[in-house]
Amino acid sequence: MFTKILIANRGEIAIRVIRACKEMGISTVAVYSEADRDSLHAALADQAVCIGDIKAEDSYLHQERILSAALLTGAQAIHPGYGFLAENAEFAGQCRQHGIVFIGPSAEVISQMGDKDCARRLMEENGVPVVPGTGLLKNWQEARKKADEIGYPVLIKASAGGGGKGIRLVNSSEELEQAFETASGEAEKAFGDGRVYLEKYLDRVKHIEVQLLADETGQVVCLGERECSIQRNNQKLIEESPSPGVSDTLRKKLIETAAKAAKAAGYVNAGTVEFLLDRDENFYFMEMNTRLQVEHPVSELVTGVDIVKWQIRIAAGVPLDFTQEDIEVTGAAIECRVNALSAGKVEFLHTPGGPWVRFDTFLYQGYEIPPYYDSMLGKMIVYSSTREEAIRKMQAAMCELIVDGVKNNIEDQIAIIRDESFRQGDYYTDFLRYFEPAE
Ligand code: ADP
Ligand code: ADP
Ligand code: MG
Repeated sequence: MFTKILIANRGEIAIRVIRACKEMGISTVAVYSEADRDSLHAALADQAVCIGDIKAEDSYLHQERILSAALLTGAQAIHPGYGFLAENAEFAGQCRQHGIVFIGPSAEVISQMGDKDCARRLMEENGVPVVPGTGLLKNWQEARKKADEIGYPVLIKASAGGGGKGIRLVNSSEELEQAFETASGEAEKAFGDGRVYLEKYLDRVKHIEVQLLADETGQVVCLGERECSIQRNNQKLIEESPSPGVSDTLRKKLIETAAKAAKAAGYVNAGTVEFLLDRDENFYFMEMNTRLQVEHPVSELVTGVDIVKWQIRIAAGVPLDFTQEDIEVTGAAIECRVNALSAGKVEFLHTPGGPWVRFDTFLYQGYEIPPYYDSMLGKMIVYSSTREEAIRKMQAAMCELIVDGVKNNIEDQIAIIRDESFRQGDYYTDFLRYFEPAE
């Protein structure tokens, strides 16, 4: 097992990883930017190294500086968290070249699955149903020709996309040129890669994803599914496990398909296969995230498996000590993302407690939130034996949470969990487009 791990991230996820390391008796090295001197992740780690200026390119995305910090402090492995370098194949390769273990899949797997076009082809070849669509498109004229064949509406999607960026809905032929240029430009800016392709826009679908762990012996175990259909601008806001729209039979199919996808990719470590599920129980591969996900805690709560600890063990060559048959999804877990809507100082902070209430955050009272990074402030996660009770628990927890000094979405989230369609589990990815909070 490793004795020292560097965490190449910030915020709540850096703290999540530091906590796992502490429980495993592994020492931790935090890295931080000039803007994060007073951050909790730097304070909680055993060592902390300043790696550069405010801008992510000069710090959390600066591969050489992070590698130097690992080499200088004698860290044997790097955990990338999510975002930043987590899905950067070049960085995973650089780690390997420098004799440092990247806690995640290999550079080859990251580049294959990170390229959505490439991943879609691999899945099709292996009998995994994919969302109907095209390969990469040379220009908008080609896109229009293909879209006319597929039928509107369509989505233009960046092959390198992530975090909801580089996706554009196109309702008609006339909108295509503009949408093509915007999606491609946005992807070029965000990912340095403007290549795009088309997918048929699927209406009234649920976003269902399967969390899995795969070890070096080739064993793949799925930790049930998560439903992430509550989204704004294709970004997730509320996630839950199990999905209220997935029967036991369907779950079995989803799990089999996700395991098939992971095996086809030669996948090792924690990963997620994302699907769109229609109302006839057809589901289609959308993409695979080759990293830890924001919403991983809901799967931890319903299965009892600590995903971060297993990421570390798998990276150290430890085989999984349970099989698919050992995994039972029990109870219901929900996560609400608490996002900042403004910059500011946390003037007052009160977090709820009680049984099965977990608030993963990097906030503390008096903390000045740097405006340069992710807007997520924390994740409220609750667990109960039934979904109804989990919803009540979430409502109570979110009503108790106070983050003063920073505009945030706590009230908006409460309005959603109070909504009747949400409570019925009868909701789709377009939920927020039609949502009007009750008075
Ligand atoms: P999840 O699937 O875990 O819910 P999100 O889509 O919410 O992930 O993204 C989590 C964080 O990672 C966000 O800050 C997002 O901008 C970032 N992110 C996601 N995908 C990528 C990517 N391919 N490249 C860079 N950053 C990404
Ligand atoms: P990202 O890499 O940014 O997470 P995804 O391909 O996972 O991008 O898509 C993000 C979200 O966009 C999905 O969760 C879903 O709500 C919506 N979406 C993506 N593809 C389609 C599609 N073909 N039809 C309808 N909605 C889609
Ligand atoms: Mg996605």
